[in-house]
Amino acid sequence: MMTMTRAETRKLHERARNITFYAIRNGELVREPCERCGDEKSEAHHEDYNNPLEVMWLCNHHHHERHAELRKERSVRRQRERQCRA
Ligand SMILES: [Zn+2]
Ligand SMILES: [Zn+2]
Repeated sequence: MMTMTRAETRKLHERARNITFYAIRNGELVREPCERCGDEKSEAHHEDYNNPLEVMWLCNHHHHERHAELRKERSVRRQRERQCRA
């Protein structure tokens, strides 16, 4: 697995957001209600910024919840990496 710098991650994130924005405008991507609670005020969430057209539709609340889950998963992974390096 390739490791990316923070700046590279940010660039990828921005690119994914732009692609998503235009895809919605062009009708390539259709907004769907939150997949956790059905709220129609949903936001596009990316599990993987390398696949900008693969989005999860989540309301603001569940979007934050998903990011908290991802942060937790990532920090566990980082802790493990840190132990390896020590
Ligand atoms: Zn929701
Ligand atoms: Zn998100």
